Amino acid sequence: MERSVIQLSHCQKFIFCFSLPDECPSCGEELEGRRLQEAPVSLPSPFTNGHNRSCSLLVTPAQDNLHRDFDGTSDLHTGISNSKGVVYNYTQGGVHRDQSGWEHCVSVPLVRPDMYPLLAQWDQYLDHFSDGPMWDPAWHRFHEDDHNCFSFCLGFVNSVLAVEGRSSVTRETFTHTYILPKMKRVSKFTTLYQHIQKHQYYVVDRKKDRQEDRQEDVPTCVGQSSDNSFQYL
Ligand SMILES: [Zn+2]
Repeated sequence: MERSVIQLSHCQKFIFCFSLPDECPSCGEELEGRRLQEAPVSLPSPFTNGHNRSCSLLVTPAQDNLHRDFDGTSDLHTGISNSKGVVYNYTQGGVHRDQSGWEHCVSVPLVRPDMYPLLAQWDQYLDHFSDGPMWDPAWHRFHEDDHNCFSFCLGFVNSVLAVEGRSSVTRETFTHTYILPKMKRVSKFTTLYQHIQKHQYYVVDRKKDRQEDRQEDVPTCVGQSSDNSFQYL
């Protein structure tokens, strides 16, 4: 997904494409040299370079997924970044500290930028937690279902919550509140992207699109807006 998606509007439609067409794919009117009522905008991609995201939960397709793409069916791998963008992630071999490989992922910020004491301690917490026997293959075996990369991330979040004197969060709550809304956006974006790849355009009624967006505001309100509304700790 290297190309950016452009959104323009014409004849009461929204048109999504990779490059501006010469004529409107819906009504056929020539667009070249004409002023559109609203300037075309480029649609923000839900993907980010995880190494530029400090103190975040990161989600990426699992290593065995050859194309490294979010296709809705691939297994996902999760990790936590430190303040320098090094991604700590747990696998069968223990905790890896990746300096690369998380360039195309979804990020969930975990700390508000003004929480200085926590930010200052973050790397130390993460190192300490990663060195624990729970994640040492000599002490504890990796298990695909209940002792995996996500257990590591959730365990870390809960250990920080405990230090902060706050109650822990369950796997279900964490997934439903913070990860699924983001993944839903990824899935919508991927579908749109693939449609444009195949058909060059995606055209939708302006009214219909707005209604759909409104309906979706309810379940996805946490993740829809900017990343900054997404803090957890
Ligand atoms: Zn048109």
